[in-house]
Amino acid sequence: MNCENLRRVEERIEKACQRAGRKREEVLLLGASKQVPANRLREFFSCGLRTFGESKVQEFLKKYEEFKDLPVDWHFIGRLQSNKVKYILGKVSLIHSLDRDSLLEELQKRAKSLGISQDVLIEVNVGGEESKGGVEPKYLERFLEKVLMSEGVKVRGLMCIPPYKENPEEVRPYFIMLRELREKLESNLKLKLPHLSMGMSHDFEVAIEEGATIVRIGTALFGERV
Ligand SMILES: *Cc1c(COP(=O)(O)O)cnc(C)c1O
Repeated sequence: MNCENLRRVEERIEKACQRAGRKREEVLLLGASKQVPANRLREFFSCGLRTFGESKVQEFLKKYEEFKDLPVDWHFIGRLQSNKVKYILGKVSLIHSLDRDSLLEELQKRAKSLGISQDVLIEVNVGGEESKGGVEPKYLERFLEKVLMSEGVKVRGLMCIPPYKENPEEVRPYFIMLRELREKLESNLKLKLPHLSMGMSHDFEVAIEEGATIVRIGTALFGERV
């Protein structure tokens, strides 16, 4: 078993925290584990990684069953179809991708019937990309107000998947945008949105400098997906 990748990512997180004057505990490392086989996840678990984020419901369910013996903290980070909400509710501690009314309604309905409260992040389409999910920034406050009125759904912050840029410095403005959106919402609506889920393998250090509290890292941990 080789914990080298994890150790290296940890070190980079630590350094980014130091540069930003933040504590290491303020940033959660989530292993973005789509397409990574269960035995490999087990290795990372034994190296100390506890939080995994899956992107496809079917793949998640399979891994969830395989890991029933271990206290893995599962998140759901992919696009979520409303008709699949029922399969993951109660099994993931955080859904990162709430971005529309129909999904909110289904979450509310299912959470209520299970008698649970589901933590969610609202995904924001910071780059205005049609190919991506996420609420447009101009509709964000209105959407958040709806989420706040929904029983059984507890909003914990914002998430974004910015446009891909070779140079991570070019992604910085999108991370700043998400942080500023959070500040504006917190002050307009008098509430706390503790989490900013932003930063992936090639740009997580910049994201940490701009306030990320959850970084979602795939290839830098697990290697290239095949
Ligand atoms: C795959 C994925 C990641 C991780 O991407 P890497 O570039 O491999 O680190 C992060 N977030 C989401 C939503 C993903 O689907």
